[in-house]
Amino acid sequence: MEISGHTRMLCLIGSPVGHSGSPAMYNYSFRKLGIDYAYLAYDIKEEETAEAVKALRLLNVRGFNITMPCKTAALACCDELSKAAELIGAVNTVVNENGRLIGHNTDGLGWVRNCRENGFEIKGKKMTIAGSGGAATAIEITCALEGIREMSIFALKDSFFANAEATVEKIRAHVPGCRVNLYDLADKETFYKEIGSSDIFTNATRVGMKPMDDQSLVEDTGMFRKDLVVSDVVYNPRTTKLLADAKAAGCRTIPGIGMLLWQGAEAFKLYTGQEMPAKEVMEKYFSE
Ligand code: NAD
Repeated sequence: MEISGHTRMLCLIGSPVGHSGSPAMYNYSFRKLGIDYAYLAYDIKEEETAEAVKALRLLNVRGFNITMPCKTAALACCDELSKAAELIGAVNTVVNENGRLIGHNTDGLGWVRNCRENGFEIKGKKMTIAGSGGAATAIEITCALEGIREMSIFALKDSFFANAEATVEKIRAHVPGCRVNLYDLADKETFYKEIGSSDIFTNATRVGMKPMDDQSLVEDTGMFRKDLVVSDVVYNPRTTKLLADAKAAGCRTIPGIGMLLWQGAEAFKLYTGQEMPAKEVMEKYFSE
């Protein structure tokens, strides 16, 4: 499709953005569906976020994605927030609805959708999850909002631990029907006990990502019962040690790359009202 005077613009802001696969993924999908949008990427530093959003508002873009380090600063520039974005405290997608900027966070929804596409529904289930950073917070808050029954969160007592405490408080205040517990990740006995009574275990830490790619938080591979689903947010490498060990034990495994794909697809749906051609995008841009 040719760019015309009617083409609506979308973009990514953050820094760095040069390596991002988003422009290729979105522009391919617009062409494939024959819809008149174009997507670019702009290198914007955190302190430039408010000015950049003001400019995008003036240009009347259809929307924009936000990556690090602008996710929290962009939230303050929105006119309205989805419940998930408000509780997570960060936006990765902003949709311009007739001049009003609505902030969303599709990271957690992308994880939930990735589970669904892999045959696992979180509603009514129990999850043990490790992590208290950006990815973990998005997943934990979204799972609570999407009807998970119980969550046991394990986190290192590092600078992120306060995030996990805040997440637990927010879930208890806003989703009282969801039972949520927070434990020190160093407490291995409780960690394995909670995995033992969970439907799914999720690694939402950096463990498994290079240079920690020879590590897995579940060192006792005897924990991998056949009916335990095992999910990882790490996508570099595509098959982490956690997923390889779980798969070898016969568990269903859900790789992190699908979360990346589906968070983009959820944003695509918010912008266009249509489903992204996810299967083709996965094959073309996300397979190793
Ligand atoms: P972050 O820096 O916000 O959080 C890092 C988390 O890892 C913290 O909870 C920290 O305590 C934990 N951690 C670090 N070292 C640890 C160790 N040795 N043992 C136990 N815990 C440890 O990072 P983030 O943005 O949440 O990203 C985490 C991982 O998720 C990265 O690998 C990132 O690439 C990946 N990620 C994937 C997607 C996706 O779409 N699949 C999206 C976002 C992030």
